[in-house]
Amino acid sequence: MSLLTAVRNDMCYCPGCSHGLVLEQLAQAIARLALPPPRVCLVSDIGCIGTADRYFTCHTFHGLHGRSFTYAEGIQRVRPDVLTIVLVGDGGCGIGTAHLVHAARRGVPIKVIVCNNFNFGMTGGQHSPTTPADALTPTTPAGFHERPFDIAETARISGASFVARASAYDAGLPGLLERGLRAPGFALLEVWELCSAYFVQSNKLTPARLNELAARGGMPFGVLAEPPAGDARPAAPSSPADTGKAASDETVPQPRGPKLPWPGRREITLAGSAGQHIRTAVGALGEIAVACGLHAAEHDDYPITVRKGHSISNLVVDARPILFAGVEAPALVIIMSADGAARVGDLSHLPSSSQVIVASDLPPPATPATVHVVDLDAFARAATRAGVALALLAYGVVRAGWVESEALCAAADAVLSGRHRESNLSALRAGVAAAAAQSPACAASTAGGRHDP
Ligand code: SF4
Ligand SMILES: [Mg+2]
Repeated sequence: MSLLTAVRNDMCYCPGCSHGLVLEQLAQAIARLALPPPRVCLVSDIGCIGTADRYFTCHTFHGLHGRSFTYAEGIQRVRPDVLTIVLVGDGGCGIGTAHLVHAARRGVPIKVIVCNNFNFGMTGGQHSPTTPADALTPTTPAGFHERPFDIAETARISGASFVARASAYDAGLPGLLERGLRAPGFALLEVWELCSAYFVQSNKLTPARLNELAARGGMPFGVLAEPPAGDARPAAPSSPADTGKAASDETVPQPRGPKLPWPGRREITLAGSAGQHIRTAVGALGEIAVACGLHAAEHDDYPITVRKGHSISNLVVDARPILFAGVEAPALVIIMSADGAARVGDLSHLPSSSQVIVASDLPPPATPATVHVVDLDAFARAATRAGVALALLAYGVVRAGWVESEALCAAADAVLSGRHRESNLSALRAGVAAAAAQSPACAASTAGGRHDP
C-alpha cells in the first residue's frame, strides 16, 4: 500500500523539481516493506523537501532546520518498531552535520534520504555546503571557490552501515532506496537532484549532466558502504511480524495505577499565561492517564521568552493508541487569562457538545459550545493560586462526565509522586469537589453558548 497521497504534478514543487520524483520512488520502496502506516515515521526539517510530510499518510515529524537527525533518534529510541526515515536537504545536512556524524558513529538505526540539489532552494538559491566548485548562485556570482561537502563519504567514514549516492533520474534508485530502508543501523542515501527554479537556471544542469558532475567532482554514484554478512546492528523493521510485539512490550509503560475508565478520544485545551502552571497541570493529568492504562499526548505553545505571555497546553487522552496527536476541535477548553483567550482565538468552530470554561474577568467567547463562567479566586481559595489550573482541569473532566470523581481521586492518589504530590492532590480534589457540588464558584453564562445548569 502506498503512503503517498499525491502525484508529482499535484505537489507544491516547481515544475521540473526532482523532489516529487524522489518522493514517488521513496513511497514505492516503503510499500515494498509492507509496513502499516503507524509503523512508519517520516522526519523532516526546513527547506522545500521539508514540506514532503504533508503528502504521506504515516506518522510525520517536522522540526527545525538541521535537527531532523536528533528528532529521528529520539523517535527511534522510544519506538524501535517504527521505521524512522529522515528526509533532509543539503542545507539541513550542512546545518546539522554534527548530528549526522554522531548518529552515524553511534549506529542509530535511522534511514536518511538526502535530497541534494546543491543550493538553498526555498530561500532563493543561495550556495550551500554541497555547491560544486565554480558553480554560480546568487551568493557566489563569480563562482563557488570552496571544496564541496561530501555527505555520503562523511556518513561512510563516520560508521554508517549502508551508504549510497545516486541521481534522482537513475533507474536503479528505487532498488537503492529499498536497500537503504532495509539496512541495519544507520543508513544514508544521497540523491542528487535538480532545483529547476535556481541552480539549474544558473548552471545549465540536466539529468545527464548530474552524472558528469559526479564523475568530475570525484563523488561517484553507487554503493559506498554495505553492512557485512551477519551484521549485529539492529535490523530495520520490515514487516508487522518482525519487531512489533517486542517493541511495544518494551516501550509502552505498564499501568501502575488503577484502571481509569475513559469514554474515548477527548481533546483538551488549557489556555492561560506564563506563571499559571498550565503545563504542570496538563502534565499531571497526562501522567495520571498514562499510569492508569490510558494513552495521552501533550503539546505546548508558549513564547520563547517563557516567563511572559501566553501559555497553552493541549492534551489528548484516549483508551486506544493515539495516532493523531493534534487538537482540532477540543471537547474541553479552559481559558484562564486574556493572553490565553487571545492565543486560542475564535471558538466558533467548536461543536455544541464541547465545553468552554472561562474566567469570570474575561468576556465569554462566542461559540456554540456550552460556556461555564468560573471565579478563579474561588478556585484559588480552595486549591491555592498555583493549583488553580489543575483544579480547573479536574473540574472540567468530572463535570463533562468523562470520569467519576472517586475514580479520578483514587488514580491520582495512586500515581502522583514527587515534591508536588500533595499540592497536586489537593488541587485536584478541590476541582473534583467543585464539580460535584456544581460549584458556587460557577455561574451561568448565556453569552455565546447554552445555559450552564
Ligand atoms: S525552489 Fe528548487 S528545490 Fe524548491 S521546489 Fe522549486 S525547484 Fe524544487
Ligand atoms: Mg537544497
